[in-house]
Amino acid sequence: MESNILVIYTGGTIGMIQDPVSGALTPFNFDALYKHIPVLQNFNCKIDTYCFEPLIDSSNMNPMFWVKLAGIIEENYEKYDGFVVLHGTDTMAYSASMLSFMLENLNKPVVFTGSQLPMGVLRTDGRENFINAIEIAAAKTDDTPVVPEVSICFENRLMRGNRTNKFNAENFNAFLSGNYPLLAQVGVHIRYNHQHILKPNFKKLKVHKNLDPGVAILKLFPGITEAVVNSIMTIPGLKALILETYGAGNAPTDPWFLQALSRGIKSGITIFNVTQCKGGSVEMGKYETSVQLGGIGVVGGFDITTESAIAKTMYLLGQGHTGLTFERLLQTPLRGELTIE
Ligand code: ASP
Repeated sequence: MESNILVIYTGGTIGMIQDPVSGALTPFNFDALYKHIPVLQNFNCKIDTYCFEPLIDSSNMNPMFWVKLAGIIEENYEKYDGFVVLHGTDTMAYSASMLSFMLENLNKPVVFTGSQLPMGVLRTDGRENFINAIEIAAAKTDDTPVVPEVSICFENRLMRGNRTNKFNAENFNAFLSGNYPLLAQVGVHIRYNHQHILKPNFKKLKVHKNLDPGVAILKLFPGITEAVVNSIMTIPGLKALILETYGAGNAPTDPWFLQALSRGIKSGITIFNVTQCKGGSVEMGKYETSVQLGGIGVVGGFDITTESAIAKTMYLLGQGHTGLTFERLLQTPLRGELTIE
């Protein structure tokens, strides 16, 4: 049966073509979609498009745009079988993570894609990424979508959105899913790894639009000073701090450092321990350098990415969660974003 797909263009390199006169990159006119990519006419699906107004470079992404994007999907949810979100690559991993939390009971594909080279450039990776994303968003078995979750389709890989980060600013292969297997590998065939794809729950979609931006990230580095840590821990209104630690969740054992974190926790800030590594998990207590973090009440983030941790804290705080419930939910996989060892 024919699938109906809604393509939502938010901005970014993929939707640009070179102006033949000025040579400058300008947004692509989506009314002429089939003119630019005639092969789309051969798909057994109907494609409609929605363009953000204004289009944004994804470096300008913020909670307001996330609410808008989630709202467009909500309003069109019943009309379409799947959604393709064309998005700049810079913050795509954050947006895909956030949408995974905002769209509770998602039973349809929301496939993010973009490109490193604009669509109008001869060697563009955008054309292939776009066509693959549409095919994946339209894929069904027995009338049930094959990938009913938020994903990122890039180069020849399909990844769970909330497991990704952008790790390369130049290569076509720009995204990594360091802690979770690919959802599909795109080659001559699209090979789906069904056992790693979330199953539909057939419940009604619930869209959460309250996001609380009272969060911050502190990335540790050798030589970090007391003044830096203290100033972050005393930011007015800060509710959660993502602490990017070394390796398996390790941090300095200097008393001033632990005392600064401890004062912050006592003042009501939740500290979420996420590793700087692109693969592997936080294991507080494995080394002496993480034992004390657990002792003062830092919450271990297992193998969650920083992008997903930011999204999850904003989402949970926006739902009004605080204290122990907030901490428990942070450590509970809600959308397949972390693995508890
Ligand atoms: N700066 C652009 C953006 O993220 C880069 C890209 O689209 O790849 O919107």
